[in-house]
Formats: sequence, structure tokens, C-alpha cells
Amino acid sequence: MERIYGKSVFAGIAIGKLAVYKKETNSISCEKVSDTDTEIKRWQAAKETAKEQLKDLYQTALAGVGRDNAKVFEVHRMMLDDPDFVGLVEDIIRSREVCAEYAVAYAGEDFSRRFEASEDEYMRGRAADLLDITDRVVRVLSGLAPGGFSATEPVILLADDLAPSETARLDKSWVLSFVTRRGSANSHTAILARAMSIPALVGADFSDELDGKTAIVDGFSGELIIEPDKETLRAYENKKAELCKYEASLSELKGKENITLDGKKVDIYANIGSVADVAEALENDAGGIGLFRSEFLYLKSDTWPTEDEQFQTYRTVAEKMAGKKVIIRTLDIGADKQVDYFKLAKEDNPAMGYRAIRICLDRIDIFKTQLRALYRASYYGNIAIVFPMIISVDEVKKIKSIVSEVKRELTDQGISYGQVELGIMIETPAAVWMSEELAHEVDFFSIGTNDLTQYTLAIDRQNHALDNICDTHHPAILKAIRTTVENGHKGGARVGICGELGADTSLTADFLRMGVDELSVSPSLVLSVRDAVRKTDLSK
Ligand code: PEP
Ligand code: MG
Repeated sequence: MERIYGKSVFAGIAIGKLAVYKKETNSISCEKVSDTDTEIKRWQAAKETAKEQLKDLYQTALAGVGRDNAKVFEVHRMMLDDPDFVGLVEDIIRSREVCAEYAVAYAGEDFSRRFEASEDEYMRGRAADLLDITDRVVRVLSGLAPGGFSATEPVILLADDLAPSETARLDKSWVLSFVTRRGSANSHTAILARAMSIPALVGADFSDELDGKTAIVDGFSGELIIEPDKETLRAYENKKAELCKYEASLSELKGKENITLDGKKVDIYANIGSVADVAEALENDAGGIGLFRSEFLYLKSDTWPTEDEQFQTYRTVAEKMAGKKVIIRTLDIGADKQVDYFKLAKEDNPAMGYRAIRICLDRIDIFKTQLRALYRASYYGNIAIVFPMIISVDEVKKIKSIVSEVKRELTDQGISYGQVELGIMIETPAAVWMSEELAHEVDFFSIGTNDLTQYTLAIDRQNHALDNICDTHHPAILKAIRTTVENGHKGGARVGICGELGADTSLTADFLRMGVDELSVSPSLVLSVRDAVRKTDLSK
């Protein structure tokens, strides 16, 4: 029995035979050509065929993994038309008088290397996409079928790396899990694995000799266990059976109340980043949206989203939630969320820099555009607004005066709006210390434990090297939450938790004892938190 460790990108247990996936290597030689015009036409035709294939792949992925995840293939299609990429391919064909296959492969590797060297984690994750699309074009040029994987029995797939198109094509009934040597938790491959709900590990160092051996993938601990002994195998079979039973029992909780055995109720809402996520929130029976990270609207766009674009988005979410509460957070840009067109200056400590409400209170034009859109949308549903990164009462007073101005302007223009509750994120130690005073200013608090943990423990949430000392259950964090709830209630503010800690079911009973009114978690975790609530007895 051997244990190999990787980074889990989706939890779960898989038991089965290992199959090492080796990509057919498509060797490309640098053939000289005399007629470069014809070669350029060949490349252009192959590019169009590849784009057609990607269109089909998009449709397949749409059915399998949903619109948001299928989008990667639309991005691939766009990358094929990228003027810099197209320019480089055609320049290589013309200047070096070489075949299209070589030029495409060369340009793909060149771009992929540039992406891999990027400081931006998202861009590094795109390196695999680039190689995937160039491999596709080279296959078309060489008259080969698109690369892929086929199996005759369900297997645990081992691969050096899996391109997004390979991941999306994996038939879930044949692939129990996959484990790769390369790939980051932020790569599209990992994102697609999560959408397919397949236990998967990346960054595992295994040898190709494992083909055909029996193994276990433990997506909880990040382990690949090769040739497990009888005892281990039996233990994992039991764990897997329990897990299956548990998952089936969760769906029976749909429509049930979030109530403890001794009768205490709590709201369980979902965190979303786009209109598309609303479907998953409803599917998992979320009682509302506890955090709509509106900055994703700005991150997806190449330029400022207009008031109308934002209004349509907020209105759609509010209407889809049909009267259930929708808490929308105003722009939380800066730090790890950078948008080119904001042209934010480089900072030494961006997490403690010009971000979130600090930008909004400085760039009132941007802030007012968003507030107008939010208030207009409030007419169509139950919208509440939450402001991020608050550190003082003074900030909240400024926000409220801008909100009053926006409401006055809308009224003067004859535009209707609804009743909107205002809240603040409690995610800085300053906000915790000032929570008693802040509670008098707002309707609710939403505790952002992700940032609150980073600022309380002085541990950068982006720095994985500090994972081993980042104690998310640190008494200081729990004390900060308790203080916030007590002070919030004293001042008449409801208190929810919308950071990742809200989904930690080992703390659910503690949160309820503290008096937390609402927990907002990823849509897929709503039912497991409901389950934890229903199993809690606060009288004991
Ligand atoms: C948080 O900080 O806990 C939070 C919910 O916001 P984000 O993770 O978007 O910073
Ligand atoms: Mg935050």
C-alpha cells in the first residue's frame, strides 16, 4: 500500500482501477513550404473547423456541466481569433516559410509560456487552455480526430494534466475520479471537476507504472492510496456507502425548515456571483441570497458596466428569487480582484489598500451608478444592500448620505424604488470593535469571515504557504463573531455570516448558540448546513 498526496479540488471518495492517460503525441516537423499564401489559407480553414468543433463541444458541456462552466469553450473560440495569436501564426508561416502545423504549435507554446510566467494566477491557469486549442487546430490540419479518452470500465484517471476540453468530454459514468500531476486549483480543469462533482486531485506525484492497479482517491484528505490493504479498502467502502446515503438523504431536506431539535430557527441563504448561480441556489432550496458578489459583473466586463446593464442583472436576480431576500454587495474590487479598466495603481499591500468601499467613497460617480441600478431593481423584488470593508461609523454616515441623494434624484425623476434594507460587512477588526456603534446605523451585519480571519490573524488569505498556521477556529475569530452578534442585537441589527466559515458544520451549533440569525453559504452546501441545524439540540 502506498500513499501519494495531492491537492483536492473536489471532495468525495472513489475506489477503482487506475488508468494512466497518455496523450497521443502528435509529432510535428518543421516542413518548409514555398507557397505561404496557400499555407495561410490552410491555417485559416483549420481555424474555422476548430471553431465549429468548439461550438459542438460547448453544447455538450452545456448539458453536462452548465452554462457558466461550458463558457470555457466560448473563450477558446475567442482565443482562436485573438489578433496577436493570429498575427504570430501568420508571421511565422510567412517569415520562416514553414508549414501551418509547425507555426500553430510554435505560437501556442510561445503564448502558453507567456501565460505561465504571468504573476496573475488566473492567467497562469490559461496556459493549459492555449495548448488545448492549438492541439485542436494541429489535429485538424493533420487530418486527425480530436484527442480524447475512452475506457471500457469505470476508472480513476491518472494524467500529467488534462486540458479543459478533455475534462469536459470525460464521461462521468466511466471516470470515477481524476488525479493529475499538474494543474492548479484555479485552473478551468479544476473548476469543471467541481461542476461535475467528481473527486479530483491535482499536483500529485505518481509514476506511469500504476496503470491497472486498484486505488482509492480520498478527496477529503487529498490522498491517492495505491493497492490498499483489505482493512483500508473495507474502511473506505464503508465511508463511501455512508457518503452516498448521506447525499441521498440531503435532497429529502428540500422544503423542510431550518430548525433545531429544540425549536430555534435560522435562515440559510446562498452566496452567488452571477445570475446563472441563482438556479443552483433555488435547486438547493436556499431561503434567499445572502451575498451577491456584484464585483463579478465588473470582473467579467472589459469596461464599466452601465447603470442599465447592472439594473437588468439585479432585477433578474430579484425576480428569479420571487420575493425572497436578495442581499447585494456593492463593488468589492481591489486586492485579489483586479480589473484592468479601473487602472488601480500597484500597491505593496493591496489587501490593506485602495479597495472596496474606499474606492466607492472616492469615486462617487461609480458608486452612484451602482446605487441607482440597485434602487431601480429594488422595485421588482426584495433587495437589500451590503457595503464591504467598513472600518468606521463615519464611512457609514457618508454612505447613507449618498444613498439619500440617489433616492432623492430617483424620486425627482419619477423613478420608483422599493424598501431597501442597508447592512455592512463585518470583516475588519475595526468593525468588530465598533460594532455596538455601527449597529445603530444599519439594519443588518454580514460577517465576512474570510477577510476577518486574514485581518485578525494577520495571515494573507492568498498565501498558501501559511495554510498550516491559519487556524480558522482561532478563539480570536470566534470571540469576534460572538461580540459582533451581541453588539448587533443590542443595536437592533440582524447578524448573518457570509464567509466560508458559515458552512463549517462543526461550528453550526456554536453559531446558533451565539445567536447568529442567518448563514449564507455556497449553493451546494445549503442542504448540509440545514442538516446540521436540524440535528442540533441547543438545550443540551
Ligand atoms: C469575506 O471576506 O468573508 C467575504 C464573504 O467576502 P469575500 O470572500 O468576497 O472577500
Ligand atoms: Mg471580504
